[in-house]
This record gives sequence, C-alpha cells and structure tokens, in this order.
Amino acid sequence: MPSQSKDIATPSRTRELLEKYGFSFKKSLGQNFLVDPNILHSIVSAADLSKEKAAVEVGPGIGALTERLCRAAGRVLAIEIDQRLLPILEDSLSPYDNVQVVHGDVLKLDLHRLLAEYLPDCSRISVVANLPYYVTSPILMKLLEERLPLEHIVVMIQKEVADRIAAQPGSKDYGSLSVAVQFYAEAEVTMTVPANVFIPKPNVDSAVLKLSLRERPAVEVADEKLFFRVVRASFAQRRKTLYNNLLHNLFGKENREQVTALLMAVDLDPMRRGETLSLAEFARLTNEIDRLRTTRQSGS
Ligand code: SAM
Repeated sequence: MPSQSKDIATPSRTRELLEKYGFSFKKSLGQNFLVDPNILHSIVSAADLSKEKAAVEVGPGIGALTERLCRAAGRVLAIEIDQRLLPILEDSLSPYDNVQVVHGDVLKLDLHRLLAEYLPDCSRISVVANLPYYVTSPILMKLLEERLPLEHIVVMIQKEVADRIAAQPGSKDYGSLSVAVQFYAEAEVTMTVPANVFIPKPNVDSAVLKLSLRERPAVEVADEKLFFRVVRASFAQRRKTLYNNLLHNLFGKENREQVTALLMAVDLDPMRRGETLSLAEFARLTNEIDRLRTTRQSGS
C-alpha cells in the first residue's frame, strides 16, 4: 500500500501535479479540487465502505478522493468528463490496481451497462463524490430514477442544496426536490464544509449529504409520474394554498368543485400549503386522483 506521505490531497502535492501537467481549472465544469485529508476521511467514513464493496466516483479530478476510495473499497469506478485529467489520473493513481477511470459525461452514459461491465461481481455499490455543483440535482436524480443497485450516495454538494434535499415538511427548505429524493432514499447532512478546503475556493458553502437508498419507495403510489406531477403542482407557487396550486397547475380553473371534493375526500385542508404536506399525504392525494381518473375512464 502506498505511504500516506504521497497523498494527493494536500495543497503542495495538488499544485505539483497541476504544474507538471500545465492544468488550468475550468469553472464551467465545476472544478474545485479537495486538498484536505481530514475532510476526505470524513466523506469516505460516511460511505461505510469495505473491501467487499465497490465505489463509483463522479468526477475524480486529479484523484484526491479516488485514492482514498481505492484504499477503502474493493473496486473503484471513476467517471471523468474532462479529457485533460486522464493522463494526470493515470499518473496519480498508478499505485492502485483496483481502479478503472472512464472518460465521459455521467449524465449521458448508460450507468447500468457501466456497472455491469466494470463491477460485474459487486452487489454492494455506493456512489461517493465531490460533485460538480452546476449539475448536482440532475446527477442525483439520474442516479435515483434509474434505480441503480446502490447502497449509499455520499456527496459533497452546495450546502443550500443539501439542506433542501434533507428538509422535513413545514421547514422553509422543504420543496419538490426534498420529496423527489426522499421518495427513493433517506437523506442526512453529515457535515458542513468550509470553502478553504478546495482549490480554487468555491463561492458557496458546501456540505456532505448522505443518501441511504430504500429497498422500496418511501410511499406506495399507483402512478409515479402522476405523484411527481402532483408534487410539482403543489409547490409551483409557494405562497399559494394547496387548493390554488392544484387548481391552476394541475386541474385547470374550471374545475373548482372537483378540487374541493378531492381535498375533502382525502381529508386535506384546502388552505394548507404544499410545503406542509408529508410524502404520505402527497401519496394519498395522488392515489385519489388516480382513482377518480380510472373511474371516469371506465365510465362507472
Ligand atoms: N473529485 C475531485 C476532488 O474532490 O478533488 C474533483 C471534484 S470537482 C468538484 C468535480 C469534477 O467533476 C471535476 O473533475 C470535473 O471535471 C468533473 N465533471 C464535471 N462535470 C461532469 C460530468 N457531467 N460527468 C463527469 N464528470 C464531470
């Protein structure tokens, strides 16, 4: 095992590697590299890895976190969009034989195929990453919606987004992103992180978010697409009541009586706001809309 003194995640080793390859940061790719060993240790610990498990990293950069993953997990798959980083990674990760770097955009790649190809015998896989902040939500939603066989997703992201994802009903941060993520996973903010652990420093505060994937979605809904439509409609204008949001963003303003009857049937106060509804209440609402729709379609 390589000695700790060769760690990539120190300011001096990072600068040395960047200078050796004449690398310049691309802000448009969210490139803020971690240079603090303690923070890396906390991220990897939160992922609960062992040599029987595999890790997938989105955006390895120059390999600071990748190196830690190689030490903690049996196998590591790292996906990097910036071709200029590939020779650097080949150099920095050369002491490790349990890592595969794939060049590509994580949003465009077929992740089921990649896992089958590179981690064929791994049943316990977690995603661990310091995500590019400009695409945090699309990446997280892709990982969740594609139902990848994942145990945990542990990611460094913008603090504000982490707080929104882990928020509970009734809080100011609770919104459609909280519901969308919590449908698939339990969410927890494990730590907040100061800007000075990155090169270059980002302009926002950061936090580590841990998602533990559920075996089954948090609530049972007859139609998932409809569930997310109902949630989006309910949050469309935060200062409007549930009744008004459903009327204007889902049913159409000519259907006042229908919306009143619906909310009465599911025992939800029409004056409540979307941000106070639990996942179970959104599910109840969805299932009643689905029931009415099915009844109408069958003409009974
Ligand atoms: N893991 C490294 C670290 O912690 O020091 C770098 C993290 S940096 C915040 C984000 C990394 O994601 C960069 O290396 C960037 O090039 C890469 N990246 C950005 N967009 C990507 C995408 N769509 N697919 C894959 N990698 C991406």
